[in-house]
Amino acid sequence: MNVYEYLLSYHIKPSVQRIAIMDYLLKHETHPCIDEIYMALCKEIPTLSKTTVYNTLKLFVEHGAAKMLTIDERNACFDGNTSLHAHFLCRTCGKIYDLPFRENPAEREELEEKGFVLEEIHRYYKGTCPECAKKAGERN
Ligand SMILES: [Zn+2]
Ligand SMILES: [Zn+2]
Repeated sequence: MNVYEYLLSYHIKPSVQRIAIMDYLLKHETHPCIDEIYMALCKEIPTLSKTTVYNTLKLFVEHGAAKMLTIDERNACFDGNTSLHAHFLCRTCGKIYDLPFRENPAEREELEEKGFVLEEIHRYYKGTCPECAKKAGERN
């Protein structure tokens, strides 16, 4: 599926800017923040502003075409991968890793029994990634 069709499938009208931003998200699984996306696309689309990037991402999230992560308190970042997965933030290099997420069906059942309507689950881990742990080990 191309990006144009991808946006349509989420009932989002595909404008040039929206296509460019969604395309960037789908191709960069690094969980970019608004600044990063803006810096990457502003040369290509001179009319682009940070506000447009922000509003476009908000629209994507509202329509379920992307996810917003708040794992890094200082900076919201965005994920084009909307499947259920956990995230690991390395406090040393700042990289956010995708991790498998094993949902506990009993937990969902319990919530639903209590009358909660579950829409999103976020699981965040923080610590040191294998690369940084290795480097720290070599230094000692
Ligand atoms: Zn790291
Ligand atoms: Zn992710």
